[in-house]
Amino acid sequence: MPDLSSVLPGSLLSRMVRCNKPGCRFCEKGKGKGHGPIWILSVSLGSRQVRQIPVPSEPKKEVEESLRAFALMQNVVKQIAQVNQELFKERKRQQQ
Ligand SMILES: [Zn+2]
Repeated sequence: MPDLSSVLPGSLLSRMVRCNKPGCRFCEKGKGKGHGPIWILSVSLGSRQVRQIPVPSEPKKEVEESLRAFALMQNVVKQIAQVNQELFKERKRQQQ
């Protein structure tokens, strides 16, 4: 079982950003590519809503680990639930 105190749902994506400061050579119209890439944690809130949280470059590895831990935990819960489902069916059969 992964450490539940650090699990995080969502996925990491990267994006270039524009600072909109006049004269910035990175953001020049048609030429500059913007700043970055910066990492963004994208979390689905259901019903097509998504929350995007910028992630500073430093703890990116930690975030990745937390995402992995979440996926791992989901897998473990799914497997346990499947076993429970089988046991549930078995109990039902015996009651009849
Ligand atoms: Zn800029």
